[in-house]
Amino acid sequence: MVVAELTEAQLLSVWESGSGQGPRGRALLLARTAAGDAEPVADLTLAALHALLLGFRERAFGSSLPCAADCPVCKEPLEVAVESEELRPSAPAAVPGARTAPPTGSFRADGCDVTYRALTLRDLLAVANGGRDVRRALLQRCVVSATPDAGSLPGNVLEEVARRLPGIDPGAETTVALECPGCGHAWSAEVDVAGHLWAEIEGYARRLLYEVHALARAYGWTEQDVLAVSPARRRFYLEAAG
Ligand SMILES: [Zn+2]
Repeated sequence: MVVAELTEAQLLSVWESGSGQGPRGRALLLARTAAGDAEPVADLTLAALHALLLGFRERAFGSSLPCAADCPVCKEPLEVAVESEELRPSAPAAVPGARTAPPTGSFRADGCDVTYRALTLRDLLAVANGGRDVRRALLQRCVVSATPDAGSLPGNVLEEVARRLPGIDPGAETTVALECPGCGHAWSAEVDVAGHLWAEIEGYARRLLYEVHALARAYGWTEQDVLAVSPARRRFYLEAAG
């Protein structure tokens, strides 16, 4: 592994802990790993979470994210390399830390005065098993206060909260502009930063375990022995062992 703060042994243990979890539990695990347990990461806003994970990913795997998508019009499969810079907001706000309250905003619509706040990872975790109405539950959690009644805001007022969320937490949405070389269709695709990082960790862990298996068989090494050898030397030994 190329990043000093994540050894291969740690990567394997992250993969092992995250294997049985859902996407949001994995996002929390990755954020804790990236923050080195120093920050209470559950209260990071989504933009702060993405900034943390993108920085961590960059140090571990480089700045280019290989992404695959199908053109929504002609279904042509597309493979692109997205630079992590493209996923950062062009005018980044001061990213709030985990110990700062998430940014808020207010508006008036349909006779309701609403104050709302940015979404946090804790919100995602709270509604992870929320059934069908996850979106509504998430938006409702963003409402700090409302008159006349915060508990029964009409759908269109909650949708107004949704429209305004990116404004108070730029970087919460990580999208990339794509264009299909086949039909020319252009669209904006969402990149799931935590999911992407998880897939890379899983891929790395599986390759590594395979190497442990092959070298243990060839030379009788333990897992610890294999991890103590650098990736370049391991490649040599694997080739030599045929
Ligand atoms: Zn197309």
